[in-house]
Amino acid sequence: MASELSVDEQAALTSGADLWHTTPIESAAVPAITVTDGPHGVRLQAPGADLLTGRVATCFPPAVASASTWDPDLLRRMGEALADECRSMDVAVLLGPGVNLKRSPLGGRNFEYFSEDPLLAGVLATEWVRGLQSRGVGASVKHFAVNSQETDRMRISADVDERTLREMYLRAFQRVVTQARPWTIMAAYNKINGVYATQHHWLLTQVLRSEWGFDGLVMSDWGAVADRCAAVAAGLDLAMPGPADAGDRELAEAVREGRLDPALLATAAGRVRALVERAAARQPGDYDADAHHALAREIAGRAIVLLKNDGGLLPLPGQGQSIAVLGEFARTPRYQGGGSSQITPTRLDDALTAITAATSAPVRFAPGYAPDGSQDETLRTQAAELAAASDVALVFAGSLHETEGADRDGIDLPAAHLALIEKVAAANPRTVVVLSNGAVLRTTPWDASVPALVEGWLLGQASGTAIADVLFGRVNPSGRLAETIPLRLADHPSYLDFPGEHGHVRYGEGLHVGYRGFDAREQQVAYEFGFGLSYTTFEYGQASAVATSVGIDVRIPVTNTGGRDGREVVQVYVSVPGSGVRRAPRELRAFASVEIAAGQTADVLLSVAREDLAYWDIRLGRWVVEGGEYHCAVGASSRDLRSTAVAVVAGDDVRAPLTAESSVAEWLADPRGAELLMQAFTALAADGEGSFGQHLANPELLSFIGSMPLARMAAFPGSPLTQETLDKLVAAANA
Ligand code: BGC
Repeated sequence: MASELSVDEQAALTSGADLWHTTPIESAAVPAITVTDGPHGVRLQAPGADLLTGRVATCFPPAVASASTWDPDLLRRMGEALADECRSMDVAVLLGPGVNLKRSPLGGRNFEYFSEDPLLAGVLATEWVRGLQSRGVGASVKHFAVNSQETDRMRISADVDERTLREMYLRAFQRVVTQARPWTIMAAYNKINGVYATQHHWLLTQVLRSEWGFDGLVMSDWGAVADRCAAVAAGLDLAMPGPADAGDRELAEAVREGRLDPALLATAAGRVRALVERAAARQPGDYDADAHHALAREIAGRAIVLLKNDGGLLPLPGQGQSIAVLGEFARTPRYQGGGSSQITPTRLDDALTAITAATSAPVRFAPGYAPDGSQDETLRTQAAELAAASDVALVFAGSLHETEGADRDGIDLPAAHLALIEKVAAANPRTVVVLSNGAVLRTTPWDASVPALVEGWLLGQASGTAIADVLFGRVNPSGRLAETIPLRLADHPSYLDFPGEHGHVRYGEGLHVGYRGFDAREQQVAYEFGFGLSYTTFEYGQASAVATSVGIDVRIPVTNTGGRDGREVVQVYVSVPGSGVRRAPRELRAFASVEIAAGQTADVLLSVAREDLAYWDIRLGRWVVEGGEYHCAVGASSRDLRSTAVAVVAGDDVRAPLTAESSVAEWLADPRGAELLMQAFTALAADGEGSFGQHLANPELLSFIGSMPLARMAAFPGSPLTQETLDKLVAAANA
């Protein structure tokens, strides 16, 4: 029990000992534990090395790529492998996953985040956490919450309405917390509606603990605590990093002087202690670097999204066709982003070597642009000449840099890459572009000039072999976009309100994040959310949908009608046409990645959880499932919907209380309210007070007075409705 500790010891326990360790309390035999980044590898700072240089570890595909697999099973396996690497390095808690929504394509850490959709992000993160924790290593789900930009990240206030918070920005956290029970949560740098996340009592205590039942520890992001007392009072247990002696003293003094409830400090210290005890059960381990590299390659291959493949140019045959490999990225891969997640890989596969190994035909290379991405006419001309002299040209292009700490300044390819693509495409009509990028890049209009386009994201240390696997068809691509590729940045729902100014960013698009906004405004996009091609084809049969007590079961037969085995990501988007609240036209509610052999049919069952049908009712302050028809559209992307089935769902029993402030229309919409109101007006008419009941029966008059709160009607000069009648009505309506 932490109460055996002195106040000073308790305070010391609630801050780190150094960058990566908790504070040991020798008198109470509480050892230190190691926490480290995260999320797609173990970045344990090497002794004497700088902050960003870690010991060697497997660099798995960052979240931008792993999310494109849409496969929870792969994420679980990645979590398990990461746990083994943690155990080999005595790491108790791995700082990840990052489940913030990709609100804008400009987000500097989009490469570390999963998706613009909270269901996809939440399901994948849940399995990652389950995998990691199943082997005795804790997760730290971050950055709680609404940390969707880097600009002014340590001070900015994300100003978001509550429904948007609940349904979009908190929802993935809620899923992971309730389903995977992470050991820890990391409170973000930013403010939410004016209050620092680390000092946000509503967020850290009411929502996280009281509503979601979180029983783990909340740590701060590194350097995110402005006021230790306020943080402890809000529900933050561990301020990282340390040492933080002045802050510890301040906490202890606040307790002694009665400014901070001693129970709050004792609770925080107790949670640190509980975490240390939990970590003690971890067995030391070892890992097989080859096996982990193979897993990194498998996940990377599954993450690649084939965006375009006119005339079936891909896959390449592996013999007989000479290949020009063009672009420095083929030789010097971009495989991860910058900042705290940067891993020192156990090895690194480049595409040039992997392509050369995959074919018996001649492979020749030209860098095409300077290593820093700058224009070089000579290099470009050499590349185009090589393209003209080869059967196929592969151009490796992408973004030069994405990093924690800074948002991107645009979504265009570097000019030198664009110019290379244009020149090569003009020299050889059989040109394939392979992109490496941590967040979406604009693909128009240049993609029209090439027959094939491969979205290779940042794929981790097996990047090159994974790309060759897809190019030569050893892996049939099944990656799907977890974020929309817009035609132009200015089309994006976040465009007008990103990244804010003067300390505030307004989440003006509200619920309409990503594809929700594009769909609501019926905008064209380059490649829609959920999109990705395969080397085979899939046909969808008729969907059926049945409402159950726990949600909706959607079933659909999917047939592989092509000549190759393949994997289809079957997606269910739900619309509620009769909804009483504003909703996006359709929202992802279930998905499954299914392996289907050539010529075979899979009967795919997708279960939509009832809680995922709910909206957040701001009047009632709770989740509500509306009763009525739910249209479940099943398909291969958010805009390639092949079959729709309707389920009739029983709604939650909810009734907003009727008050004197409720309008005439609201009274009439409520069966009991309508009855009472009509009775009252009939009685008034009988008293000779004029026939209000008749007015209400007249649709024209009703539209005129329908929005009037009853209290205002009662106050109207000459109104027959008295305060007394109104009080009685309200009492009767809510009896
Ligand atoms: C990042 C976190 C990271 C922490 C420790 C912070 O700057 O925001 O994601 O876990 O540093 O490196």
